[in-house]
Amino acid sequence: MSLYGGIEAGGTKFVCAVGEGSDELHAEVRFPTTNPSETLGQACDFFNTYMRDSHISLDRIGIGAFGPLDLNPGSVNYGMITSTPKPGWEFTDIRGMIASGTGTPVVLDTDVNAAALGEGRWGAAKGLQDFVYLTIGTGIGGGLIVQGKPFHGLVHPEMGHLYLPHDLEQDPFPGNCPYHQDCFEGLAAGPALEARWGQSAKTLAKDHPAWELEAHYIALGLQAIICVASPQRIILGGGVMEQRQLFPLIRNKLLAHLNEYIHSPAILSDIDAYIVPPKLGARAGVLGSIALAMQSI
Ligand code: ADP
Ligand code: ZN
Repeated sequence: MSLYGGIEAGGTKFVCAVGEGSDELHAEVRFPTTNPSETLGQACDFFNTYMRDSHISLDRIGIGAFGPLDLNPGSVNYGMITSTPKPGWEFTDIRGMIASGTGTPVVLDTDVNAAALGEGRWGAAKGLQDFVYLTIGTGIGGGLIVQGKPFHGLVHPEMGHLYLPHDLEQDPFPGNCPYHQDCFEGLAAGPALEARWGQSAKTLAKDHPAWELEAHYIALGLQAIICVASPQRIILGGGVMEQRQLFPLIRNKLLAHLNEYIHSPAILSDIDAYIVPPKLGARAGVLGSIALAMQSI
């Protein structure tokens, strides 16, 4: 029997679990993200205790981590969280520290690529080879699966930092991305909503004009992603997408932005099955990390 470990390495919390290759988990633990040695030490302790108590070793551990990450095996920084704004985590060798701390091979990928793989194996993209998982939360990030595998390219995609048309008369909010100001993330992530409207995105009424504008930006972002990557489906997750009223607004605006140019029945006649919410919910991160461990044979 093969056993896999998964780590959802988030900026606020870590979730670690052991699984057999189904969507059932054997053991699970979660704890807040503090500094690298304490947090990664806790993760290693969890897996080492599990292996010792059950007298088995894990085949592999998958880590879906916040980034940016260096995923290029030829690079000196391979396996590291690199230039992150999260204090204390710059150039943390997360892959190496978990591998040496547990004596287990480790596969590292972005949190969004891991979530995408989990949705592809068990959730909303089951059976598809080419799709995108986009999260809209504290930031905006997209995982791109191409021919069943996470796509990295030079570094890894950064779909949250696309520039979108920004009409300053309609929306005077200047944007809050520290690198690009009014990129997709700077205009449409949760903190941008809060800064623009002066209240938490969670408390904005369902019929507040914020959601029309939010759907407008998300639909513009999706238009660009579809034109570049031609995904078979796009899954929209993250805290902001808990606002389910966004889905029909986004679908309608996306159809308008594409203007029937992409002539696929998946978009023209089945958009409800093309732009979808995740199916794995709060478990997407950790299940995705197990899916990541499973697929790298
Ligand atoms: P993270 O991105 O840190 O993993 P989330 O995906 O929950 O976590 O994103 C947090 C952001 O999403 C915050 O800016 C928060 O205001 C926003 N958010 C969380 N839940 C909701 C909700 N139900 N409705 C609207 N915005 C939400
Ligand atoms: Zn940006």
